[in-house]
Order: sequence, then structure tokens, then C-alpha cells
Amino acid sequence: MKESVQQRFREAARELLKKWPEDVRLDVPLSPLVGYRVGGPADALAEPRNREQLREMLRFCATHQVPVFILGEGANLLIADEGVPGVVIRLRRCCQELYHEGTRVYVGTGRLVSELVEYCEAHELAGVEFMSGIPGTVGGALRMNAGAFVGEIGDRVVTIDALDMAGNAMTISREEAGFGYRRAEGLQDKILLGTWLQLEKGDRAQLRAAREDYLKRRASKQPLEYPSCGSVFKRPPGDYAGRLIEAAGLKGLRIGNAQVSPKHANFIVNLGNATAADIFAVIQTVQRNVYRQFGVWLELEVKLVGFPAEAVEQTRRPVNV
Ligand SMILES: Cc1cc2nc3c(=O)[nH]c(=O)nc-3n(C[C@H](O)[C@H](O)[C@H](O)COP(=O)(O)OP(=O)(O)OC[C@H]3O[C@@H](n4cnc5c(N)ncnc54)[C@H](O)[C@@H]3O)c2cc1C
Repeated sequence: MKESVQQRFREAARELLKKWPEDVRLDVPLSPLVGYRVGGPADALAEPRNREQLREMLRFCATHQVPVFILGEGANLLIADEGVPGVVIRLRRCCQELYHEGTRVYVGTGRLVSELVEYCEAHELAGVEFMSGIPGTVGGALRMNAGAFVGEIGDRVVTIDALDMAGNAMTISREEAGFGYRRAEGLQDKILLGTWLQLEKGDRAQLRAAREDYLKRRASKQPLEYPSCGSVFKRPPGDYAGRLIEAAGLKGLRIGNAQVSPKHANFIVNLGNATAADIFAVIQTVQRNVYRQFGVWLELEVKLVGFPAEAVEQTRRPVNV
């Protein structure tokens, strides 16, 4: 990035701090805030206390042409070692609503998925228990259309309250959200605030048993003892990324302190003090080797943040492989 642009972002970050000294911090390391425990700093990290303050912050960033990145729990992100230019906003202090009317639940996007699942269990509402054990916020789950076993969150969405990047409010219907496999095209470049989910009447004991079963199944198959982002690659049509990676002989492949998990080949784990560059190198090695052996280019499920455009492009399609 050009030094003058970087300088402009830093100046805007300092202005932001002056306006909201209690809710903004400068040069904040992001690694403790994300699942992989890697990645450099943000110029500024803002944690608005309510929706109105969030809107003002967005307007400020739009006026000063400073990029904004919304961070959930970072459970699906690989943040570059160089960090994220501009302002990173977390919604854990605002967007905390959680209530229901009949069988509809309203949940703020700053809530954890686990909080939503537990609330629904306590109120005998069925339909989100399959999400037990998916780390992250409701905002991240909506944006990724997170799913497991028998469903995806998009199946339950009625409407989503959101802002555009300039802070203008809108309500997005499930159809407009454009939910697909680990994607929601209609939610790009939107700040998600909260959502109505349509659930069904359930039985507390059965919901608890289902939750415990899903958690057990995860613990038996996934290397939960190491930092990771869950599945790194999407399922290719008619196959499984993990099966292809294993068949290519890449299970256990290690670069620096990043490793293709010997327990689950679609997980790349941080063995301790890995860098984002280590993890990125494992990603590239896996993509190239699987492509050479099976002609399948594995598409990333994990989102790369702060990486140069050329690096991101290299993960999208095979070039000189
Ligand atoms: C051990 C493990 C297991 C996992 N298992 C699963 C699984 O079974 N199924 C599955 O689908 N995923 C799984 N994941 C991936 C991850 O948990 C999900 O993608 C999760 O939904 C990410 O939520 P997050 O809050 O961490 O979002 P982040 O990773 O912080 O962000 C993901 C994307 O959402 C955007 N975003 C977050 N909040 C908002 C908001 N309020 N408004 C707008 N954009 C927003 C971010 O900008 C980013 O683009 C797993 C991860 C781990 C580590």
C-alpha cells in the first residue's frame, strides 16, 4: 500500500479516537481476537456501544474514505501478518438483542451462536440446534450462511436488519440475502445488525440431547485442541475437500508451525506461533497438489483479510501450476 494512503488511514484513525476515546483503540493486534490466533494489527479497532454510534462511525469512515472491516469472532478468517488497513469494527457491545415472540426469535448479530442455541433450548424453540459448536457470532454466521449436519442458518431467516457502508438503514428479506452454500451474495458490503428467525416449538430435553450429540460428533472428528478456522476449503461438487487432501498424501503436511491436521484433512491448524504466511503457504501447497493429482481446484471457505490482491487472486484459480 502507498505510504500516503497508509498515512491518511492513520490520521483518520487518530481523528476517530479523538471523537470516541472510550470506544476506539489504535494499532490493535488482532491475533488474540481471531480463531487462528495469527495476524497483524488494525490501524483502529472500534467497538460501538449502540446502533446510533455505529452509524456515526460508519458515516465518519465513509466521509474520510477509510476502509471498514467488520470482525465477528474471527472464526473464519485468516488475517495477514501485516494486519488490516483502516478501521476494524466489532459489534460485541451493540447488537446484543435476544428475545422471542411465539416461535420467532430476534437475535442481534453481536451475540454468539452458542448464546442463541442455548436461549432457544431454554425457551423450547427448535430449529437452530444443529448449529451447536459452530464458533462465532450470529453476524458471521449470517454472512457465511453457516451450517452443519442438517441445515444452514439461512433456512431460518425471515428478515435481516442492516446498514450500508454509509450508515443507511435497510431490511433485507431471506430472498434478497441470496443464501447459498457458505455464501450470501445479497449481504456483501452490508453491516448486519439483527435478524428474525422462524423456529418451531420444541422439547427442552430433546433439544439438549441433540446439542450434546452434535458437540460430541464435532469433538470426535475435529482437532479442537488447536487454533483453526474450521474447514479451510468448500466442498467441491460431488466430493469432499478432506477426502481429496488425504488422497493426495497431504495429511500432516507442515510448513513452519502450520499443519494439515492429521485428525481432519480439511483443517489447517496453528501448532503454536504459526504465522499467517505459514498457513497461507500450506493453503497454496494443498490447492496445487490436489489440482495436479485430481484436476480439482479447491475453493477457499476461509476469508483472507489484509492480503495483497495478487495473493488472493492466486488462491482463486490455477495459474502456472
Ligand atoms: C473449530 C471450528 C469449527 C467450525 N465449524 C463450522 C461449521 O460446522 N459450519 C460452518 O458454517 N462454519 C464453521 N466454522 C467457521 C466459522 O465458525 C463460521 O464461518 C462462523 O459463522 C464465523 O463467525 P464469526 O463471527 O467468527 O465471523 P468472522 O470469521 O469474524 O467473519 C466472517 C465474515 O463475516 C463478516 N461479518 C461478521 N459479522 C458481520 C456483521 N455483523 N455484519 C457484516 N459482516 C459480518 C466478516 O466481515 C467476514 O467477512 C468453524 C470454525 C471453527 C474454528
